[in-house]
Amino acid sequence: MPKRIVIVGGGAGGTITANLLVRNLYRQLVNGEVVINMITNKPDHVYQPGFLYVVFDKIRPNEIVRKQRDLLDPHVNLFVDPAVKIDRENNVVFTKSGKGFPYDYLVVATGSRIVPENIPGLKEGGHWFYDLEGAVKLRDSLRNFQGGRVVIATGVPHKCPVAPLEITFMLHDYFKQKGMLDKVELYYTYPINRLHSLEPVSNWTYPQFEKKGIKYEVLFNMEEVDPVKKVVKSMEGTELNYDLLVTVPPHKGAPVVEESGMGKNGWVSTNRQTLRNEGFNNVYIVGDTTDLPISKAGSTAHFEADVIAERISSEVLEGSAATEYDGKVVCFVETGFDEATYVWFNYQTPPKPTPPSKMLHWMKLGYNRLYWLSARGVL
Ligand SMILES: Cc1cc2nc3c(=O)[nH]c(=O)nc-3n(C[C@H](O)[C@H](O)[C@H](O)COP(=O)(O)OP(=O)(O)OC[C@H]3O[C@@H](n4cnc5c(N)ncnc54)[C@H](O)[C@@H]3O)c2cc1C
Repeated sequence: MPKRIVIVGGGAGGTITANLLVRNLYRQLVNGEVVINMITNKPDHVYQPGFLYVVFDKIRPNEIVRKQRDLLDPHVNLFVDPAVKIDRENNVVFTKSGKGFPYDYLVVATGSRIVPENIPGLKEGGHWFYDLEGAVKLRDSLRNFQGGRVVIATGVPHKCPVAPLEITFMLHDYFKQKGMLDKVELYYTYPINRLHSLEPVSNWTYPQFEKKGIKYEVLFNMEEVDPVKKVVKSMEGTELNYDLLVTVPPHKGAPVVEESGMGKNGWVSTNRQTLRNEGFNNVYIVGDTTDLPISKAGSTAHFEADVIAERISSEVLEGSAATEYDGKVVCFVETGFDEATYVWFNYQTPPKPTPPSKMLHWMKLGYNRLYWLSARGVL
């Protein structure tokens, strides 16, 4: 009987894990000693950091979408058939079409999703750039925007912790380029008592906002939007008028995770070092769906995928695994249209943003194109 590895979710974390497993277990796959089955719910793979550039007409929507089959090594079996139940007691995943996929090792890589419907009025009155449709709508609204107050509001939890800052800086340069900065008031809000969840990044942001004339309000937890009066209200009791509302809606994990009893709101209890689901030695969690106290980011998913692929391969080949995750996250942060900064951090080391530079911006643009190699496990 071959060892069966099932991966649920064909996004960044699931795809990199699958391709790295093929590299490590190639001979066993060819000999039929190992089988890798990926279950996902869409035939396409979307490069989500590209949404930011779609908003500003810098990347066309079709440039950030590829066929999932084309990104996977041919030795991985792909099933586009949403998982509807994960049964960890009996080691089997059930899909919408009624199939059951038994496993020896399971990797849960179902990511996170936005839930704008959790904020009354947001769908009708606000914009977001956290899915392709939202990014295109915001792009079109910006093309027709004549000026006024642009409020940026962020729900929690959310993936890519730096994206609210990036969209703010890029909006600044967008209006500057259009020669309408004097007609626009950029108003950034943030849910906690500083400008960013990572304190060093927050400290770095204050002078940047000062320099660019960006106003802000902290302790602003978006509670409700009035689309008719164009007002966004916070749980803290403040109200802001807006002409354009740009938001990061709050997130949840995938419904299948919550419905299978794996974690409230779809966040799964994950060991910080081994990335095993607590209490289940043959179940690994990768990417946004972990409950780890670190950024939900593509780079996080990538570094975790490296660890999980190593661990499963060692367990299959040698019966035990030693590789551990150190909490590493790496982010290039756009500070406008032609400069970026960079942060890296892990469980032990806090981030330290570098001075913005053109070179870091080009590196971010370069990575946007290289992502497809990264997904294939080459980079
Ligand atoms: C605007 C924006 C900007 C970003 N910028 C950056 C950045 O600069 N740097 C960075 O590192 N990260 C960035 N990110 C975050 C990054 O894209 C995510 O953190 C990353 O994709 C998480 O990978 P994942 O595998 O956990 O989830 P995903 O890549 O979202 O993949 C989850 C997969 O699971 C599938 N799935 C869900 N439910 C089921 C089911 N029931 N059955 C089967 N399959 C299912 C989904 O279809 C999807 O394919 C950004 C994200 C956004 C939205």
